[in-house]
Formats: sequence, C-alpha cells, structure tokens
Amino acid sequence: MLLTITTDYQPATDLGFLLHKHPDRLQTFDLSFGQAHVFYPSASEAHCAACLLLDVDPVGMVRGKNRNQGDLLGHYVNDRPYVASSLLSVAIAQVLGTAMAGRCQQKPELVATPLPFSARLDVLPVRGGERFLQDLFEPLGYTVEAERYPLDEAFPEWGESPYYSVTIRATVTLRDLLTHLYVLIPVFDNEKHYFVGEDELEKLLAKGGSWLAAHPQKEQITRRYLRHRHSLTRQALDRLLAMDETEPKSEPSETSPQEETLEKPLSLNDQRHGAVLAALKASGARSVLDLGCGEGKLLRDLLQEKQFEQIVGMDVSIRSLEFAQKRLKLDRLPPRQAERLTLLHGSLIYRDRRLEGFDAAALVEVIEHLDPPRLAALERAVFEFARPQTVIVTTPNQEYNVMWETLPAGQFRHNDHRFEWTRHQFAAWAEKVAQQHGYQVRFLPVGPEDEKVGSPTQMGIFTR
Ligand code: SAH
Repeated sequence: MLLTITTDYQPATDLGFLLHKHPDRLQTFDLSFGQAHVFYPSASEAHCAACLLLDVDPVGMVRGKNRNQGDLLGHYVNDRPYVASSLLSVAIAQVLGTAMAGRCQQKPELVATPLPFSARLDVLPVRGGERFLQDLFEPLGYTVEAERYPLDEAFPEWGESPYYSVTIRATVTLRDLLTHLYVLIPVFDNEKHYFVGEDELEKLLAKGGSWLAAHPQKEQITRRYLRHRHSLTRQALDRLLAMDETEPKSEPSETSPQEETLEKPLSLNDQRHGAVLAALKASGARSVLDLGCGEGKLLRDLLQEKQFEQIVGMDVSIRSLEFAQKRLKLDRLPPRQAERLTLLHGSLIYRDRRLEGFDAAALVEVIEHLDPPRLAALERAVFEFARPQTVIVTTPNQEYNVMWETLPAGQFRHNDHRFEWTRHQFAAWAEKVAQQHGYQVRFLPVGPEDEKVGSPTQMGIFTR
C-alpha cells in the first residue's frame, strides 16, 4: 500500500524538511508487521512527491498468535497486505511522527503554514462508497477524487470491489493532513488489526480532538474508529463535545451581562434582528439560514413571516440549540409550522453540505467570535461552499464603544469576542471576501448613528 504526498509549493523540496526525510535517499524502517519505505519519485523546486510504501509481512503478522482461534485461513489470506488500513496509520505515526507532531527544526515557520498538498492512497477500502469519502473529507476542506476498482478485471460481471484509489487536495498544514489521514484511514476500512481499548480512545482524542469535535460526521467517525464499542464511543463523544474549542465560553447567554447592560437602552439586539429581517425580506429569499443562531431569537421572527418557507438555524453550541428548541416550542408547533424549521448542530468552519442550496444566510454577531484562522475557514464554508444568493453579516462597530461610558477604553463588549472592528476594518474584510468569491457588498448602519463614530452595529449585505 502506498501513500503519496505531493506539493507544488515553492520551493517544493521543503517537503523534505517538513517530513524529516531527505529527498535524495531511500529510507527503510522496520515495523512489527513489516517494513515501511520512504522515497521521493520527484523532488524539484517546482514539484515534490514523497511516498510512504508499506510492505506488510502477512505471515509475520500471524506468527506467534494463538492459532486455535477460529478462521486460520483468514489469518493468511486477506486484503491486509494490500490495502491502506490501520497498519498504514501506525506507519504514519511511527515513520512520520515528528511531522505529525508539528515539529520542524530547519523550517519551523512552515509547520503552521497551510500549503497546497495532495495525498493519494493506493488502495483504500471504502466501506460506505464514494459519498462517504466526500462526507468525511470535504468538511475538512478537501476536494476528493476517487477511482473505483472492479472485483476482477477479467470478470466484469462480478461487479465493483470496495477498493479505490483516492486523491484528496487542500491547502492545509502538513500536520493537519497527516492527522486527518491517521484518523480517517481506519474509519474507511472499518477493520482493525488490534484490540480496541482505552489507549485507542486516547489516541483518537489526542490526534483528532480539535477538528473532530466540530466535524459533522464525528459520531460516525468515532464509532467506526472505535469499532462500534458503544461505551468507548459514548465516552469519546462526550469528551469531544466538552473539548470543542469553538464552543463560546460564555454560553448559553449569547449576550454577556456587560453587553446587555451597555446595549439595553437602545434594545440594540431587537434593532439588529429588525434590520436583518428587513434585509432578508427585501432579498426575496424563500429559504434562509441563520448561521450561529444562538438561542433562536431571529428564528422566531423568521417563523412569523410567511415568505420564508424553509428556515434553518445552525449553531456549534448544543446548549444554545436546546434553548432555541424550548424558546420556539418546536415540539408544540402545528406540524406545518414545525416543518418549515430545522435546527442543525454544526460548525461554520467546516464545509457542510446541509447548508447548500439556500437563497439567503444571516450571520448575526457571529464572526467576532472566531479567531482569524477560523474566520478564514468560515469565509470558505459560507461564501465558497454554501454559497447562498444573499449573505447578511453584522458585527460590532468598535468606534462606537467610546459612546458607552461604562465600558473601559480598549475593552470588548463581550468577553468571548476575539476582535471588534472599526468601520474601515469591516469594510476592508467584507470587500476582500466579496471579491474573492464573486459577491457584491454594501453596508448599512444599525442603531442610532453618531456623526463621528457611526452606529453601534455594522451590517454588510452580500449579493451575487
Ligand atoms: N446570532 C445570534 C447569536 C450570536 S452569539 C444572535 O444574534 O442573537 C454567537 C453565536 O455564534 C453563538 O451562539 C455561538 O455558539 C455561535 N458560534 C460561534 N462559533 C461558531 C461556529 N464555528 N459555528 C457555528 N456557530 C458558532
């Protein structure tokens, strides 16, 4: 089985530094189940490809095991030596462990830099088909190309095999690429060569923790990775939920006491939702997304408007969604009303197919809760992948903060805000995003406008 990692980043030979493997040498490593070889079929400034070839010794694997147990032939005659499986994950961890841990002495700055990578797996058994490949890799930002093999070329009537050659491509850090492969390869294969115990759970959480916590397929991934061991899966999911860094610290209240007191005299929250609702109505949208819907105040207003036939609220915080469900009395709505509304648990930093095909989306006071790298991921998830006709974004106008005497200078309105932008900063961001993704953007103030510092909330309306 073969894993090929390529990049066109220049100089492409930096891949050698990142992998800690010299491009000019063939290196061989002894593993408990065979050998792993690392070599570079091409290494130039413009293009570099590194291969990890795993040569599994099927007899060696069985030697010393208790052969009285069951299917002896199956121990020797199986697909393990030929397919990418958990054995490949073990090889990645052992042979490319330094790269996967994000260490690079010679070029430390490259560790955290997303670079254009592709990774090809020959051959990956995919129990779940091509759609499953997309469901697992696309939320992490990859494009997926898959070529399926027939069971036997000489007997086409036998049909397709579960084996694929798969290429994934994305601009990611090498460390992320390797950890994604490490966790997901055994998930596709759905067979494991060793006992699944507590330490496997620890490995999954250590490697997958930060991105897996927000992955829309996390249940499926965890269940398969831990091979359907229910109690372990349950534990893992509980811990992933607890560790989801995107959960804002101050939930379930989406306005902090500070923000609420400051904004109260203006009932700015109501004005904001009023302004967004008006803009959504004016867009002519029939299907709308409320992304980062929080406790569902805007959703309640949207439900009042017949124009909106399909309304989806999405949030990363389960607790906020539970609040929303109660607030909207979802279980007591007449069926025709209830059918119009769906609540989804998900994170805006991953591509999510459930968000595709909508007329409009609103992100009300959401972007300032994300740090810059996550904001960049949100931009792609919303403007490149979900791609509604209209996107409405609101965020605080930092300049207005001086108007609140009780807010110490330089402090944010909410302790979970990662930034608060001036009008100029917001406009620069919005115009960049619009230009990158083929949208036009215009701006409207929300709340009372001061001549010098503008209004407390700023709103950008993107259309394409
Ligand atoms: N839109 C609501 C809530 C704003 S508070 C309102 O106007 O009242 C910000 C919300 O964004 C919180 O509910 C938080 O859980 C959600 N959020 C933060 N990061 C997110 C992410 N990565 N994906 C989805 N929602 C997120």
